[in-house]
Amino acid sequence: MIPVGFDYERPDSVDGALALLAERGEDAKILAGGHSLLPVMKLRLAAPELVIDIGRIAELRYIRVDGDEVAIGAGTRHHDLEASAEIAAEVPLLGAVARTVGDPQVRHRGTIGGSLAHADPASDLPAAVLALGGTVVLRSPRGERSVPITDFYTGVFSTVMEPDELVVEIRVPRTGTAGWAYEKFTRRANDWAIVGVAVVDGRVGLVNMGQTPLRASATEAALAGGASIDEAAALAAEGTDPPADLAGTKAYRAHLARVLTKRALTTAQG
Ligand SMILES: Cc1cc2nc3c(=O)[nH]c(=O)nc-3n(C[C@H](O)[C@H](O)[C@H](O)COP(=O)(O)OP(=O)(O)OC[C@H]3O[C@@H](n4cnc5c(N)ncnc54)[C@H](O)[C@@H]3O)c2cc1C
Repeated sequence: MIPVGFDYERPDSVDGALALLAERGEDAKILAGGHSLLPVMKLRLAAPELVIDIGRIAELRYIRVDGDEVAIGAGTRHHDLEASAEIAAEVPLLGAVARTVGDPQVRHRGTIGGSLAHADPASDLPAAVLALGGTVVLRSPRGERSVPITDFYTGVFSTVMEPDELVVEIRVPRTGTAGWAYEKFTRRANDWAIVGVAVVDGRVGLVNMGQTPLRASATEAALAGGASIDEAAALAAEGTDPPADLAGTKAYRAHLARVLTKRALTTAQG
């Protein structure tokens, strides 16, 4: 319940945050919505010397249609995605997935940048961005780079981000009316997914089926080769290595992946 003492800075610009990260990156932690960082600090699983609060940086909070993509500022809150008319029209999957995260209080604080950077394989939005084939834009004093989400995750709670880098933007292709669905199986209303399946335009992202969010590649290949939904969904757990914990065994999760994939593909097909 009680975090270790820390210094606190609240820069009012991205440049201000980057300067602090450049100086103290190894000892510092970015605080966005705080709904993953503060819980781990309260359990003393993280004890940064400096907390850099980016939660009020207005330039990080936007949703913009940009060519054939939608650009989303890292500080955009789950509730902003849920309530956005642009998201509903251009990438409806993302708004629907955001609506399943935690409860309204969590969604009014948590951010898409924080959710992606935290790299918890049980999180919903990373698998949705993976199914969409999105990109994570990182900025540091050395410049900006765009990392395809397929290359962003390296393991549980780990990404390719350097200590002086900040997630500044997430870019996803506009899918418009392409079929989509999100199936999230939980024990209770505001829980993390035991397994989740995001489908859009024939691509399938899996929540909590391995160390990172995963694509159900065998299912996607089968669909592309003309297989039926039943045949393709039966392959959803191929190549995955789900966790075993209080919520379920590996075999139970593999079963859920197949069932939820079938449901999601059926819904997406309309
Ligand atoms: C009760 C509860 C229920 C929840 N249920 C769900 C759920 O069902 N599904 C789900 O997906 N999530 C769930 N969450 C997590 C929630 O979505 C978090 O808000 C989210 O995972 C992290 O976003 P944040 O903005 O709060 O990040 P923070 O907690 O502020 O930060 C998380 C991590 O990301 C880093 N970080 C944050 N922003 C950036 C950035 N721009 N650049 C670089 N690093 C950054 C931080 O340094 C930290 O390491 C739940 C949380 C709570 C408390």
